Amino acid sequence: MATERPHAIILGAGIAGLTAAFWLDKAGWRSTILEDGPIKQGGQMLIISGPGYETLERMGVKGLKHLPFMLGENVVKSSSGKVLSTVGYKQTHCGVRSRIVCRGDLALALAESLPASATIRYNVNLEATQDDGPKFTAELEGGEVLTADLFIGADGQRSVVRKTYWEDEESVCLEHLGYSYATYDVTLSGVLEKPCESYHSPGRLDSYFECKDDRIAALHIWRNDVVKPFSGPTLLYDILKVVTGTKIPTVTKILRAAEEQGSVPIISPMELVTLKNWSRGRVVLLGDAAHCLTPFSGQGAGMAMASAEVLAAELKAVTGEGADGVVKALDRWEKRIRPPIERLQMKSRLVATNFLPKGKPAHMIRSLVAKMLPSDAVSTLLSAGVSDEIDRAEIDELAEEDPQRLFVQEGRDGSGKRGLDEKVV
Ligand SMILES: Cc1cc2nc3c(=O)[nH]c(=O)nc-3n(C[C@H](O)[C@H](O)[C@H](O)COP(=O)(O)OP(=O)(O)OC[C@H]3O[C@@H](n4cnc5c(N)ncnc54)[C@H](O)[C@@H]3O)c2cc1C
Repeated sequence: MATERPHAIILGAGIAGLTAAFWLDKAGWRSTILEDGPIKQGGQMLIISGPGYETLERMGVKGLKHLPFMLGENVVKSSSGKVLSTVGYKQTHCGVRSRIVCRGDLALALAESLPASATIRYNVNLEATQDDGPKFTAELEGGEVLTADLFIGADGQRSVVRKTYWEDEESVCLEHLGYSYATYDVTLSGVLEKPCESYHSPGRLDSYFECKDDRIAALHIWRNDVVKPFSGPTLLYDILKVVTGTKIPTVTKILRAAEEQGSVPIISPMELVTLKNWSRGRVVLLGDAAHCLTPFSGQGAGMAMASAEVLAAELKAVTGEGADGVVKALDRWEKRIRPPIERLQMKSRLVATNFLPKGKPAHMIRSLVAKMLPSDAVSTLLSAGVSDEIDRAEIDELAEEDPQRLFVQEGRDGSGKRGLDEKVV
């Protein structure tokens, strides 16, 4: 008689949760993903590079569409519209294997790639959970009870799983970096001169990325020492109008269109999540819930994916060892993933200190330097930053100590050479 597969309940059909379900299948598990909404198309623009890129390649995910941003230049302007610098993605990411995707499009493609052992349940609310019986139990709204051998909290930066099971650390685990950010989508044509356009103002950056079908992904980052979650669509636009002012015509035009289209912005303080451990009993946190890196790192989604693959590989290695094996696997997984996460979090802190200078004089000096530097020098500086981040993301043990613990090795070319992947963006 075939033994039943162990079962994982995953809270959150985001990048971490969906990738975990994919790899858990390879480890001989089945999974149920609970998502409290639908998965929406579009969303913020992500560059997937480093270990996350390798994981994505190994998954063979289909349907990730090309974004125009990849091909064009990134122009940075002052608030008066003067061009400060123009650098292409191909220069900053020269020699780096990467894909550019929108978060929602990646999540949809991951959901479509799931094997039969994974079930996604949308618009589901979790009422209660318990981790003290022979199995982990989760009670859904309406009274249905699910049992599992592992509960994965992949529910993002504001994780309810973390709030429930790491209650003692919740008040101290969010490390504010002194900024806030907002992202939203807008459909508008003919407004951007280049596929990526940014405006630098004192203490603020407004960036726009051209996606598919006239869709623009907007990102505002601003200095903000006040830590306060934001909510309510009308209020959100009121906040954004205050933050952005009304002086830059492109910014005003895009904001007005987004509001008219009813696009709901995500506005959040820029906060790292730092916890002493990422698992307790049969409960484990994955992705931003465990270790949000903030948008100052280009590795948050990538590391969520790589980490999910390693977690499944460690679970596979303890097949047949029951609950003790699961705990052993969680311990081993964390030992492998924590070093790169801590290096990347350190990098986010470093980026935060200089990202937007405080005050007008410092801003003017920064703008002047940006304008005077030759574009080669700007590209060299930016691409050095990208390479440094990818080096920090490297999960050393995967390559050096125990390569067999990855499922497939095809993604790595073995030579250490990284070539820009132009066919799949
Ligand atoms: C502006 C910006 C730019 C970024 N750029 C990059 C980049 O270039 N490269 C990169 O690698 N990363 C980047 N990141 C980081 C990346 O987006 C995150 O690290 C990644 O999305 C984290 O994935 P996740 O699955 O952990 O969380 P999320 O993507 O937040 O997914 C969490 C999921 O859980 C669901 N959920 C939440 N609560 C519940 C609940 N109670 N019940 C059920 N479901 C729930 C949510 O609806 C969501 O589907 C960027 C982030 C931002 C904000």
